[in-house]
Amino acid sequence: MYLKSIEVQGFKSFANKICFSFQHGVTGIVGPNGSGKSNVGDAVRWVLGEQSAKSLRGGNMQDVIFAGTANRKPQGFAYVAITLDNADRALSLDYDEVTVSRRLYRSGESEYRLNGSPCRLKDVNELFMDTGIGQEGYSIIGQGQVEKILSGRPEERRELFDEAAGITKFRKRKAAAEKKLQTEHDNLVRVSDILQELS
Ligand code: ATP
Repeated sequence: MYLKSIEVQGFKSFANKICFSFQHGVTGIVGPNGSGKSNVGDAVRWVLGEQSAKSLRGGNMQDVIFAGTANRKPQGFAYVAITLDNADRALSLDYDEVTVSRRLYRSGESEYRLNGSPCRLKDVNELFMDTGIGQEGYSIIGQGQVEKILSGRPEERRELFDEAAGITKFRKRKAAAEKKLQTEHDNLVRVSDILQELS
């Protein structure tokens, strides 16, 4: 699996629709300060479901929408799509290519799509879980993150190893099952209270 392309429109400094195509091997993005190099990495994190505006260097999520310049009007939405080569079926979808897209309007309305079909953020998270690519993956190492990892709490470092070992999805499923069990337990307590009141 490798990243084949990134398409951006109205995202941060990219007002127009732009497509970055990548080949196998190493690609460098060069440019003057403030020209948008880090915004490319932000676009990948955002499309993979990043929920923290702060980690995208903004105050709120709508800050990712192109805000306009002296001679360009602001855009009404931000759009990012990434296409991954999936010939090796590293992602559990039976397609040679997988495209994930995310769109956000100024109204706050947003949408994720997987190969063109609308989906939930949960579907995107589950697809990338344990691949090292998703929201909690380690495939994007931001500025200062190496230091953060080295000086992080043991539990935070453990999360990285869990992801690499492929057990994140089981940890998440266990947590979801435990939450559901707790809800059912609370419901049972409520039912027995009502029964006691009635008897
Ligand atoms: P450096 O080399 O200094 O790290 P860089 O090339 O990585 O810089 P970025 O940090 O990716 O640059 O981009 C910063 C630019 O993006 C700034 O010029 C900023 O004005 C612009 N920018 C960020 N968000 C928006 C937005 N919502 N609308 C328009 N421009 C934006």
